[in-house]
Amino acid sequence: MSSAPLTPSLLDRVHFPDADLLKVADQLDASERAHLERVHRFLQEEIRPVVGPYWDREEFPFELLPKLAEYGLGNIELGGHSRLLKGLLYAEVTRADVSLSALVGIHNELIVGAIEYLGSEEHKATWLEDLKTFKKVGCFALTEPDHGSDIAGGLATTAEATADGWVINGAKRWIGGGTFADFAVVFARDTRDGEVKGFLVEMDRPGVTATKICNKMGLRIMQNADITFDNVHIPASALLPGAQTFAGTNVMLRNSRAWVGWQGAGVQLGILDRARDYTLSREQFGKKLAKFQLVQEQLSRICGNAAASLAMLAQVAWLQEHGQFDMPHAALAKATATRLARESAGLARGLGGGNGIVTEFELSKLFNDVEILYTYEGTYEINSLIVGRAITGQSAFV
Ligand SMILES: Cc1cc2nc3c(=O)[nH]c(=O)nc-3n(C[C@H](O)[C@H](O)[C@H](O)COP(=O)(O)OP(=O)(O)OC[C@H]3O[C@@H](n4cnc5c(N)ncnc54)[C@H](O)[C@@H]3O)c2cc1C
Repeated sequence: MSSAPLTPSLLDRVHFPDADLLKVADQLDASERAHLERVHRFLQEEIRPVVGPYWDREEFPFELLPKLAEYGLGNIELGGHSRLLKGLLYAEVTRADVSLSALVGIHNELIVGAIEYLGSEEHKATWLEDLKTFKKVGCFALTEPDHGSDIAGGLATTAEATADGWVINGAKRWIGGGTFADFAVVFARDTRDGEVKGFLVEMDRPGVTATKICNKMGLRIMQNADITFDNVHIPASALLPGAQTFAGTNVMLRNSRAWVGWQGAGVQLGILDRARDYTLSREQFGKKLAKFQLVQEQLSRICGNAAASLAMLAQVAWLQEHGQFDMPHAALAKATATRLARESAGLARGLGGGNGIVTEFELSKLFNDVEILYTYEGTYEINSLIVGRAITGQSAFV
């Protein structure tokens, strides 16, 4: 048996690809690998060092959008990459900053994805080019004040057909980017047939009001909004032809659920980076924290969680590439990676001691951001019920 040359160890201070202990990224071809490495360096050198103060102030760094576009992050969905590279790009953005990874993921999976897979030729011609470069941004408006987990059945926003279009009435909650988006992909129930349909609604239409949700414990850079639609008139062409029932939208939602799984994996790479660095720099009892056996056990547990999450998501990417991917796969990966991320974030925050609770050391920022990954795109419980239904054939929803 030939022995492979020794690769950089965990203690090697070069960041890439040391946190990917099982070498998932080695499955990429050379050009995809080089692209990932280039994006990784950009994110670690130009994004991660500057986002902390924005997070503290709950501000969005608009000036970073052209830079993100320069590195192709507005065009992941349409960029022709393998599923594995797409996922690893999402993981790398999350490793640098969870809020910006939410923007990049929603943009690619739920906005560009909605227009590309559910939209009309006119929608594509009008929006896609500017979306790829972040000259325009959209938001995805599904959740409502009174309907979160039960949105598919409970959705109350209405779309009433008129002679030349539709009138939208209702309210949406938690909508990421809702305060600055150019348009919203809005889901509303057709008052004629009761089906949930998707519409592209410009945010400057009369009757649309977006209000920022303040004082969030995590994802503080992402601006989430309450949006109300009060007799908003839209043309017939605003209807997304592929979203005439909720089933059409579901195909897109399972891909975006896998994206949040990649966020759960990617955030753990970031957690490992920061926890390792901190325990190597801090001394107690005359020794680096990293020399203590109990500390190493905790770092090792974070490594195992991160590696298990990445390997699971890589297999999800394989299922996607081979046409074998379904909602329970996405739900299993999302629930597991975010559950493990929660444990990893808690361990890392503890390793920071008192410094682990102030944002400048990043550990508390990650700890708080992970809570949102656990909750959005279907909570941990809802995704577990989807897996439970697939295992047992019994639905716990009804
Ligand atoms: C920061 C942030 C960003 C978001 N961004 C967007 C966005 O851009 N667009 C968008 O449309 N939505 C967005 N969401 C909404 C998100 O998807 C919902 O918050 C999520 O689906 C949960 O809904 P809820 O908050 O209403 O919780 P609820 O549905 O009220 O759930 C509360 C608790 O009850 C549990 N629960 C509910 N039903 C069951 C059940 N049957 N069995 C067991 N437990 C159950 C849940 O798991 C949870 O623990 C965002 C949310 C957050 C917090």
